[in-house]
Amino acid sequence: MKLPIAQPLKYISPSTFMSAAQGIIPSGCEYEVYLKKMTSTGLHTEAATDQMMLGTLFDALVKTEIAHELGLEDASKRLDVLLDKAGNKGKQVIKPELLAVAHEVLDIYNYFGCLRRLFDEKIQDVELSVAERVHGVKLFGYPDATILVNGRVSPLDWKVSGYGSSRVKSPSAGYKSYHIQPAGTKGIAGGFQDKGRHKKYGAFLEDINIRWAIQLLFYNWMLDGRYIKSQVYSGAIDNLLLQSDGRIGVASYRANVSTDFANKIWESVRNKWERWGEPPTAEGVPPVNRGMIDLMEPKPDLWRCEPYGRAKVCTAYCEYYKRTLGDDMQREILQGQMKR
Ligand code: SF4
Repeated sequence: MKLPIAQPLKYISPSTFMSAAQGIIPSGCEYEVYLKKMTSTGLHTEAATDQMMLGTLFDALVKTEIAHELGLEDASKRLDVLLDKAGNKGKQVIKPELLAVAHEVLDIYNYFGCLRRLFDEKIQDVELSVAERVHGVKLFGYPDATILVNGRVSPLDWKVSGYGSSRVKSPSAGYKSYHIQPAGTKGIAGGFQDKGRHKKYGAFLEDINIRWAIQLLFYNWMLDGRYIKSQVYSGAIDNLLLQSDGRIGVASYRANVSTDFANKIWESVRNKWERWGEPPTAEGVPPVNRGMIDLMEPKPDLWRCEPYGRAKVCTAYCEYYKRTLGDDMQREILQGQMKR
């Protein structure tokens, strides 16, 4: 469908791409990105949940620790600056209890030896902000950190999950290592269990978690300044899992992305940029309004429009959503289907 556009995209970040990755990931919807980024509706992003805020606070603490050890003196890596950024420059209150949990998680991460291991992996930098035109496509993102893999600078990201959940969370298959506190213990006094490698270690990152794979592909391209069709890209994820019984586990992933998947994602990124991206302009020239853009038809469903059980902000503006999910009977049928 063709729609009028108020502003083309200035760049594509991994999160923008994933929001629009219709047909690639279940929550992807091109129309959502259109409403949020290309119209003048003034839709802003959802406020950070406690779970998201905890992840940002942990990031701030671990990055400061590493920056100190590496002797990185850039102001952007200072704790006060990172905490101010976490609170969106005063727009969102940082709850002290969340900061306390973030400190506890960092203590355990350190106790398991995961922090020290990053130095063995030649961690290079933390809290990067990279904007790069790669073969004409303007990419932008914030890699958490970089390590060296076979002499190449490769991205690493921390993910914190499980906070506030009533379920016991198992790590995704394919980890290189998994440490967890034993049942019934708290803090560092109770020791830890080293579960070793998962039997599927060596699987491609997209088969472990497709969102991680896409995010780390973007970072690889930005850090390298180019996309190479035959290149094997790799990435690292340290996933900190908070269990409902208070235990903390750390699953670490070091994996490659298959070249087929990397090429498919690059083609999709390039296609979106060609349709929606701002054409190159001389410095200072306002973005060119392209008039109309084409989009895939929106296909509302509960997975797409209400992932994690929360409605996205676009639902308030999306006539397709209202038509499909605004009807109580229709909603009941869909919810019944989701439970099966
Ligand atoms: S409400 Fe659903 S279909 Fe509509 S724009 Fe948002 S994600 Fe897409």
